[in-house]
Amino acid sequence: MSDPFLWREADADSLSPPRYCACVSDLSDIAAWRGAATHPACAAFFDSCRAKIARVVQAKRPLCLASGACCRFEAYGHRMYLSGLEAAFVLARIDAARARRQANPLRQFEVHDAKSRGDCPYLRAGQCGEHEERPLGCRIYYCDQGSDGRGAEWQSELYEELHRATLKLHEQLGVPYRYLEWRDALGLLAG
Ligand code: SF4
Repeated sequence: MSDPFLWREADADSLSPPRYCACVSDLSDIAAWRGAATHPACAAFFDSCRAKIARVVQAKRPLCLASGACCRFEAYGHRMYLSGLEAAFVLARIDAARARRQANPLRQFEVHDAKSRGDCPYLRAGQCGEHEERPLGCRIYYCDQGSDGRGAEWQSELYEELHRATLKLHEQLGVPYRYLEWRDALGLLAG
């Protein structure tokens, strides 16, 4: 199983060129994730995860000290990972929100440009342009460690708990599990 931690430090593979052409196994996984992302159990699961994170964040009251800095992955020195199923669910939600605003769904060139810049395709002027539908990892991570210095602890514990539950959701829905870097996942799934 892949590393269950929320964010990983950037490593040498960040220097590799992006690979967005899907092979046969990618295509079958993508189809499974897209199909499962429309299942009511999937929406119920991720909505309940979001609500749980919101409750914890409200209790812990971390501050966003450097708005948008952690979304500039290369400069910040870390990566955000998530499961293929979560990526498919989030992308479908964001594309639907974009459609309501008469905006295009996410396109490959936006993902490619973001990777070239070293940031997220949804980052807009230092803010998340899709705040309502952002992934679980984006909801949990704060650079503020709190007055007790234990921010990383509760963030990791919460993420690991939700990650274990995400694995169970994959089993429940019978879809393959893969743990992907955010922009690589978007590169596979974007239209
Ligand atoms: S989805 Fe939003 S919060 Fe998450 S990395 Fe992208 S811009 Fe940042």
